[in-house]
Amino acid sequence: MDISALVSDARAGRPRAVARLISLVEDESPHLRAVAAALTPYVGRARVLGLTGPPGVGKSTSTSVLISAFREQDLRVGVLAIDPSSPFSGGALLGDRIRMHDHATDPAVFIRSMATRGHLGGLATATPQALRVLDAAGCDVVLIETVGVGQSEVDIVGLADTTVVLLAPGMGDGVQAAKAGILEVADVFVVNKADRDGAAQTVRDLRHMISLGSHSSWRQPIVRTVASAGEGVSDVVAALDAHREWLVSHGELAGRRARRAAREIEAIAVASLRSRLDGEALAGLASKVAAGELDPYSAADLLIADL
Ligand code: GDP
Repeated sequence: MDISALVSDARAGRPRAVARLISLVEDESPHLRAVAAALTPYVGRARVLGLTGPPGVGKSTSTSVLISAFREQDLRVGVLAIDPSSPFSGGALLGDRIRMHDHATDPAVFIRSMATRGHLGGLATATPQALRVLDAAGCDVVLIETVGVGQSEVDIVGLADTTVVLLAPGMGDGVQAAKAGILEVADVFVVNKADRDGAAQTVRDLRHMISLGSHSSWRQPIVRTVASAGEGVSDVVAALDAHREWLVSHGELAGRRARRAAREIEAIAVASLRSRLDGEALAGLASKVAAGELDPYSAADLLIADL
């Protein structure tokens, strides 16, 4: 396989090459190392945005209107829609994302669904690599969308330079969100479905929570939107820009990106270590631990010493 040809095609904006590279990443292809090395000179330009929130809150609607807003600025946009519940990948889900069809024929928009195939650990490695592909392919903005239901999704969305947490009135999601830890990762809050009763209450609840928990000089703004009508989207874009300026002026952008790289390296290293563990040795040690002949710490030391 000619990786460098594939990378130049992707850089020329050919969607098939981009899709192919992301598939290699998702399938943990043996070519992964070569792909990562070939992409490296071209990454680091894209703004990375995370978007998360409970199911039904309006994430895909918001993603679609945000894409339109970025397209109006003539930016190239990549979207990674992470669906932890789906066994499908490779864009199979896009049929469900009807609103995104508005952008299906726009060559400056690349939308990709990524599924976990039952293990989120895989996504922790694959998502940053897919992000690199889109970055190298010249996307000015990459939007990572996840369902905010658990720690793993929070970790994935935490890859972003700026993370938007979407809530909507009347879903009891303030509490849910707090449980899932998504309030802490929010740089910008969006209360969507502001056309519905209870939006003002959701904003008040959020404002209260922010006043209790803020430990940064960045004050998380709360933006109201009616995504289905495109209302408030320019305010979201303005909040994203303001956060971007704050990141840069406080040296935080570099810090976040270094943390993202550290997590990425760690995920790869852990996966590599796990694959090198000797299964037979592990089974032997496990019987001894189960039989009470050995403690698990000593067993772990022995297993690692064998590497
Ligand atoms: P997701 O599951 O978070 O991606 O949510 P969707 O974007 O699929 O939206 C869920 C439903 O809410 C859809 O029927 C949308 O049309 C609707 N919806 C999205 N935004 C709004 C809004 O601002 N107001 C109202 N009333 N409905 C909305």
